[in-house]
Amino acid sequence: MSENTYIKERNSKLSQKVVKALQKRHFSAIYCETAAEALDEIKKLVTKEETISWGGSVTLEQTGITKYLIENGYNVINRDSAKTPEEKAQLLRKGLVCDTFLMSSNAISEDGQLVNIDGTGNRVAALCYGPKRVIVVAGMNKVAKTVEDALSRARNIAAPVNMQRINAVMSHRETPCSYTGSCADCVSEDSICAQIVTTRLCKPAGKITVILVNEELGY
Ligand code: SF4
Repeated sequence: MSENTYIKERNSKLSQKVVKALQKRHFSAIYCETAAEALDEIKKLVTKEETISWGGSVTLEQTGITKYLIENGYNVINRDSAKTPEEKAQLLRKGLVCDTFLMSSNAISEDGQLVNIDGTGNRVAALCYGPKRVIVVAGMNKVAKTVEDALSRARNIAAPVNMQRINAVMSHRETPCSYTGSCADCVSEDSICAQIVTTRLCKPAGKITVILVNEELGY
């Protein structure tokens, strides 16, 4: 067996604990072996009658979910379709009252808590309140032992790596992690770490569906 097989075996076993922990905290939770299975689950959950939006997410790109929704005539609110900054701001606000909001999570603790960091805040705002339903897609690489470990993962792995992506595909941000790759707990105006949100319970029950995927997705 390859090293990768051992990781998949371990994650498959661990996922059973995480799914139960999420359900105990009133999330709906689904486990998928592959990103393709996760996409199939989402196809079952969403309809063309509802409005659908999403937060910026490498995981959603890797799983092909947003591409599928855009190309198949779903009623999407897609801020990347905006032609001006004003239109983008308007679409971000509209996304906060959509029917279904898709996102990933920066980290999930083994006891079923979600940890997310956001700069603009639209992603965590939608997670907390607004959309009728939230679907979180996360690779098993996002699972951390404790909620403290999940916070550390979000701050010390997800955020500095996201910063490299933002610098490359958007515009350069003046933050310590842009230069060192390490979080320095900055208060720069360019920081992407304005909001740090722990979701310890899903309220109302079942509003948030977490789809755990046994693949390395996002960071
Ligand atoms: S250095 Fe600043 S922007 Fe970078 S991860 Fe830390 S708090 Fe976030």
